[in-house]
Amino acid sequence: MQALAPRSPAQAGAFDVVAPEGCCVFVSTGDRSLLDALPIAAAVVERGLGGALLLVAWNRRLEEAIRSSNSDRFDPAALPMLHEGRIAVLMSDFLDGSAEFIDELEFRDGDGLGARHFRMKLAPLPGDPETGNRRCLVSLIDRTVEVRAEQSLRAEMLRDSLTGLPNRLGFTETIEKIGTSQSRDLPGGAEHAVLVVDLLRFSRINESMGSLVGDELLITFARRLMSTLRSGDMLARTGGNEFGILVGIRRGRDDARAAADRIQQVLTQPFRLSELEIKVECAIGVALMNTGDDSEELFRNAQFAVKQAKHSGCPQIYEPGEASAARRRFSIETELRRALEKDEIKLFYQPMIDLKSGRVSGFEALARWTHADRGEISPTEFIPVAEESGLILSLGRWAMDRAAHTLAGWDAAAGRPLPFTVSVNLSAIQVARDDVANVVSSALRSSGLTGNRLILELTESSIVQDPGRAIRVFDALKALDTTVAMDDFGTGYSSLAYLQRLPIDVLKIDRSFVTGMMRDADSVAIVRAVLSLAEALGMSTTAEGIETVELATTLATLGCANGQGYYYAKPLEADAAFEYWASRSGTV
Ligand code: C2E
Ligand code: MG
Ligand code: MG
Repeated sequence: MQALAPRSPAQAGAFDVVAPEGCCVFVSTGDRSLLDALPIAAAVVERGLGGALLLVAWNRRLEEAIRSSNSDRFDPAALPMLHEGRIAVLMSDFLDGSAEFIDELEFRDGDGLGARHFRMKLAPLPGDPETGNRRCLVSLIDRTVEVRAEQSLRAEMLRDSLTGLPNRLGFTETIEKIGTSQSRDLPGGAEHAVLVVDLLRFSRINESMGSLVGDELLITFARRLMSTLRSGDMLARTGGNEFGILVGIRRGRDDARAAADRIQQVLTQPFRLSELEIKVECAIGVALMNTGDDSEELFRNAQFAVKQAKHSGCPQIYEPGEASAARRRFSIETELRRALEKDEIKLFYQPMIDLKSGRVSGFEALARWTHADRGEISPTEFIPVAEESGLILSLGRWAMDRAAHTLAGWDAAAGRPLPFTVSVNLSAIQVARDDVANVVSSALRSSGLTGNRLILELTESSIVQDPGRAIRVFDALKALDTTVAMDDFGTGYSSLAYLQRLPIDVLKIDRSFVTGMMRDADSVAIVRAVLSLAEALGMSTTAEGIETVELATTLATLGCANGQGYYYAKPLEADAAFEYWASRSGTV
């Protein structure tokens, strides 16, 4: 606080304040009848000789505002706005008409519970008629009640009412503050970690024992978590049955893991609630904090790790990249729905070659998705997403229909049924959940094709899940006169017994064995074994992934009937595929 002192006899009753920037504030009593008429605390300030500021007059409301803030007696020396250098500077600038002056300021007088809050506004007044000194009207609005209400509302907003702990907002705000003050990245580690503890199956406890017991459990749970904290750590209730802990760590992930283990350990002891003894389980996810991390994102990362902890049964530390992969899967799912509606997905056709004659024996229909922003998305990425989300049912129907109509269109262009087939992939999920035979028969009906023009590629997983159903589906497909091929053969652990019992016409040797043939003897042995197995069972064979002429000739020599691969052609658009056939068959 700056001292006030009488300045000179000529200014009896006046005081000055030495403001930091060197300007002086003079205080004097004066005529205040006009000011008293104002409904707010107000004063007149004048720019005096030598740049000093004079408080020329003030009203009773100002006296009251200041008195309630400081003492029983009004004392201009205690005028809070004169204590603050920035206020004096503001007034000076305002009176000087400085280009960038501000005419409003909020300030606090005093600290702690007794602090009062004011908004000060300045308005220009005509200058002193005698001296010409510039003057302004200073008004003061006491915002103490408002600010206190705001503060307590805010405190309420940041606190969980059941446990009295900070809530999610309070938690992430604290993380935010710590994050900005955490000025450096420690080599190989972070200084803080965020742990999210999820109390598993809490809703069951709530339902079976009532919400009062549930509340009691949450409070006891929180207390027990509190007992694991070290100085500087922070506990919050971030959701109904979810708690967040901010822990300080010195040795990066080792410390974070140790903290998580410690907490898990403490929570394994049963909880005693009145007469009851309850054993709870929890999942703990951890995210390590680095400078500049966004607090919300950090918290979500820890929540993501909780999901993984639920599966693994032990605390998990978030690894960057995992969540983004999950997010990508999620966005692919949403966008895949739209892509199907917007026709962004196309069918391409990869030629299948009769290895003995070199003629095109058919085409495999393969889905292609060109995303407007992301570009090509591989079927190895979107087919599993489609399978998980169930979208594979509509995608599969669409592919079946489109492939059949494309072949029918080629037949129509040639004016006769062409001497080749089209293979369509069927996912195990389609086999398990759709009426596949009906899907195929309606595609045949609407395209006018006969069943022998289609090959249906199924994978071993469609047998493994429900062999009984698979047998019925395979039989129904055979009844339509279609050819059934076992795709990616050798990768799916199906039993050879099923191979014998199912009406399979073709074994497609998985690309991994074909590619491996040139460098390892095992792959050659596997391919040989598959070929002789197929022969013994009366099945035909197709080798995937033929990329070189050597592979093509070796496979032909070994007796493999058909092959497909980049050596012949990559999957092609429908028109290009038809031209490929035409050029190889000598038609054009
Ligand atoms: P798949 O049915 O085993 O198809 C063969 C895959 O091998 C295709 O990959 C094809 O482009 C690729 N390929 C063929 N020759 C070569 C080669 O010489 N070298 C290499 N490196 N790759 C070759 P694509 O098109 O990426 O499809 C991947 C998988 O996605 C397919 O494997 C199939 O399981 C699935 N898929 C594609 N389209 C559909 C569809 O319409 N429905 C269903 N259910 N699955 C589909
Ligand atoms: Mg296939
Ligand atoms: Mg395959």
